[in-house]
Amino acid sequence: MNAVWKASEAQDAPAPREPKIEREVHKLEKRLCRQVGQAIIDFNMIEEGDRVMVCVSGGKDSYGLLDILLKLQKRAPIHFEIIAVNLDQKQPGFPAHILPEYLAKLGIEYHIETQDTYSIVKKVVPEGKTMCSLCSRLRRGILYRVADELKISKIALGHHRDDMLATFFLNMFFGGKLKGMPPKLVSDDGGHIVIRPLANVAEKDLVRWAAQRQFPIIPCSLCGSQENLQRQRIGQMLRDWEKQYPGRTETLFTSLQNVVPSHLMDASHYDFKNIKITGQADVDGDKVFDDEAFPLPGVAGVQVVQL
Ligand code: SF4
Repeated sequence: MNAVWKASEAQDAPAPREPKIEREVHKLEKRLCRQVGQAIIDFNMIEEGDRVMVCVSGGKDSYGLLDILLKLQKRAPIHFEIIAVNLDQKQPGFPAHILPEYLAKLGIEYHIETQDTYSIVKKVVPEGKTMCSLCSRLRRGILYRVADELKISKIALGHHRDDMLATFFLNMFFGGKLKGMPPKLVSDDGGHIVIRPLANVAEKDLVRWAAQRQFPIIPCSLCGSQENLQRQRIGQMLRDWEKQYPGRTETLFTSLQNVVPSHLMDASHYDFKNIKITGQADVDGDKVFDDEAFPLPGVAGVQVVQL
């Protein structure tokens, strides 16, 4: 049953003499569908009868999310509804016609919520101070209310793998916490399930998909806030690492799914105080005096041991 969430070989098999570029696009589509389908399965994101509210901002990520979910909806083993929702915050220059036109053309259920949070934030936050915390708090409250009014059971957001990694490092560097961005959670008001079906998807694939699908992108800097400066720096750090050590992003992302509380220092997650001798040898156990061995980048099978 789960397999139906993934790209179907028969349905998606490329034509025999497809030009290279089309094959690449086809591969990209298959990968996106497979990765989103896998996240949905792994975290039980969407269930029978769900009404999924897809928050669409006009950025490449939320367009991509909506697009891939609509594709998966057609082949999913369960029935669920998709409702696209956009919040028009009345930022100066926001082209309010673009999303309704796009969504109407898709022929799907959608809702545009217009709330002038921009004026409120401008009025309340002193000039030069960051507006984002109040802005996003207001946005959250509005979206939760809209979700209730539309009888939504899941709220889907367009955060992807690289957002999740950046959040992990932001929390570590600035918050002193090992804390990322969960693929599925209960909202801060306790009343909604929020899902991130793009959790496994690389940002560069969403960039390529947006170009391929020619989404009518709305620029995200209309509010003029400097909010994401630190996030941008972390993003650059991750891209630089990836350039220098290809595959590092994937390894980092895998590490978020392989947590070993006994080898960290949070006593609330591991009962260090009451550790007892087991008398049993464990091949995977800690080697105590020896450092871990890691594969040498780019040289399969070679191990590096730090002395
Ligand atoms: S960047 Fe602008 S729109 Fe986004 S949260 Fe900050 S103030 Fe709001």
